Amino acid sequence: MKIFRAETLIDGSGGEPQRNVEIVIEGERIQEIVPAGVTPRPPQATVYERPGATVLPGLIDVHVHLMFGTGSRSYEDVIQHDSNDLMLLRGARNAYLHLRAGVTTFRDCGARNNVSFALREAAQAGLFLSPRMHVSGRPLTVTGGHFWWCNEEADGADGVRAATRRLLKDGADFIKIMASGGGTRGTDASRASFTVEEMAAAVAEAHQVGKKTTAHCLAAESVSRAVDAGLDQIEHFNFIHPDGSRVFDERVAEQILDRGIVLSPTIQTGYRQIERLQAKGDALTPRERTQLDGNLYKQETKLDFVRRFYEMGAPIVAGTDAIQEFGDYAIGLELLHRAGLSAMDVVIAATSGAARAMGIEKDVGTVRPGMLADLVYLDGDPLTDIKALDRVLSVVMGGRVVVDPRFDLGGGIPALPSDTPVLMPA
Ligand SMILES: [Zn+2]
Repeated sequence: MKIFRAETLIDGSGGEPQRNVEIVIEGERIQEIVPAGVTPRPPQATVYERPGATVLPGLIDVHVHLMFGTGSRSYEDVIQHDSNDLMLLRGARNAYLHLRAGVTTFRDCGARNNVSFALREAAQAGLFLSPRMHVSGRPLTVTGGHFWWCNEEADGADGVRAATRRLLKDGADFIKIMASGGGTRGTDASRASFTVEEMAAAVAEAHQVGKKTTAHCLAAESVSRAVDAGLDQIEHFNFIHPDGSRVFDERVAEQILDRGIVLSPTIQTGYRQIERLQAKGDALTPRERTQLDGNLYKQETKLDFVRRFYEMGAPIVAGTDAIQEFGDYAIGLELLHRAGLSAMDVVIAATSGAARAMGIEKDVGTVRPGMLADLVYLDGDPLTDIKALDRVLSVVMGGRVVVDPRFDLGGGIPALPSDTPVLMPA
């Protein structure tokens, strides 16, 4: 038996925080949550605590790309020069960086060939420390479409149907569809790609076997097609028009709400570039100035779209679209808060809401009896200081301490006070 003490517990369900409780764990699941120090414990029970910390369910990122984590290198550079083998090793490192940021579950939204399947298998076998992983494998795309080099191009409803069945056969946990162009050379982010019929074929095949679907939608037209095709979730929803403008569509937004489609805004994409460019001040070149203006327009419209959807009551989930940096998770939560989400709704977007979107809410996303014991200890209370989500003290997965910087040789750790009760990572 293991006992994890929490001075403050935010359980992910949206309920009031609990004070001074013990989370009792048997095996890898939570047995009960009781007031601290009341129930007598067997002498062999181990107790873990971080005084002053707030405990949350392990955090969830619904959108990463483990094959990257390649800084500012372009897609084309990475695809041309990096082998699948290199992507595997880098993916393992990326996974651990995210784990250190408190993410205990994530979903890979597109990798080349079998890279993400192999990563999931290796993580499950314990070959490296990783969050729990759901993978789409190769994203479905039209011939020459966004991420075509992942090698799952398909055209026509029959072609898409066959490709979806192939992905499911290979072990996809969900199906990712590239519904518009994107950053891939030769594609256009302001134009839709798949037709409604093509996407509907993928959705039908996935739903038939109980799997979820999500679509990358930068173009306004791709959002409305994804809605018509019956997608479960929409990524990005930048509402870009062929003239480059980004305009919210009330009619489509109403449909999204009616159909209960989950929204994954990937709100932080471009944010670090804004910071880097702004730091240059007057030293910006004309080209960088144009880049900065473009990023600021993207940021400002995204915050506005998220605010509108939130006010309408649409389900919003947390996703980084980690391509450049892994482990940089909390900034997206801070931006969701800036867009208007209450701190509690930010926590839900990163925990129970995301778990429901992935269909795994019976296992993760809340701290309740019966759930997997995935916990994150934060320095501070995110309900009063959203930046506390960036101050991860410890991470617990399935009742094992997997991150505790006091033991982390990679982190340059101060010596451990000898009176601190701890559990070594199993
Ligand atoms: Zn993505």
